[in-house]
Amino acid sequence: CGIVGYIGTQTATEILLSGLEKLEYRGYDSAGLATVLDNKIHALRAKGKLYNLRNKLANTEMLANIGIGHTRWATHGKPEERNAHPHLSPDGKVAVVQNGIIENYRELREELKSKGYEFKSDTDTEVIPHLIAEYLSQLSAENAVCSPSTFVEAVRQTVNRLTGAFAIAVICADFPNELIVARQQAPLSIGLGQGEFFCASDTPALVPYTQTVLSLENGELARLTYLGVEVYSFAGERLNKMPRILDVSP
Ligand code: GLU
Repeated sequence: CGIVGYIGTQTATEILLSGLEKLEYRGYDSAGLATVLDNKIHALRAKGKLYNLRNKLANTEMLANIGIGHTRWATHGKPEERNAHPHLSPDGKVAVVQNGIIENYRELREELKSKGYEFKSDTDTEVIPHLIAEYLSQLSAENAVCSPSTFVEAVRQTVNRLTGAFAIAVICADFPNELIVARQQAPLSIGLGQGEFFCASDTPALVPYTQTVLSLENGELARLTYLGVEVYSFAGERLNKMPRILDVSP
């Protein structure tokens, strides 16, 4: 029900948790987060309130500078830890959080199962990391040279396969300097800081860090790196967007 993401110079987990707290008003039944550290995805999920996730996090040392977080309001699959986000590709390299509903997940699930992909949850969301992994492997088999990156191209091809209303944030162990987000009929804003970039379902999660915001429109995806933000259409064209300054006066 709420998405956050961070890439920058600070430790990601604290920023992700405080962002999720700001989105608690949207309601949720479970929560989770994932980071990339040493070319590996590290994911944690917990049923119930955010302090359950916080408690789990206290036992780990996740010093990554990039990550994604989620509060879930179950629509497909019971509110259980195994259905909480992030969802990972079978090789554990792609992690996805999703807000919304993927309407054609059944067809996609069958298609992916026939290619040998296994599923661990009952959610509509798990098709997304699996599809991204599939397109990443197709692009690497073709030796495709993708601009600006193979990762954003795999996510672009994936979102073009999805129907429904969704916002997603994605990280990948093999692309540790990129956070990809996409939006179709569900809210998603990007926060522009100094050497750090944020995304969130709603601006209160961004305000403590920056008031400079880019709102993604439907059919747009963005690539956040340590150096900046690039926005593309689902068709793959680079878009010029102007940030706006949030009015935070009381
Ligand atoms: N449909 C997804 C699920 O059930 C996402 C729900 C949400 O927006 O939290 O996992």
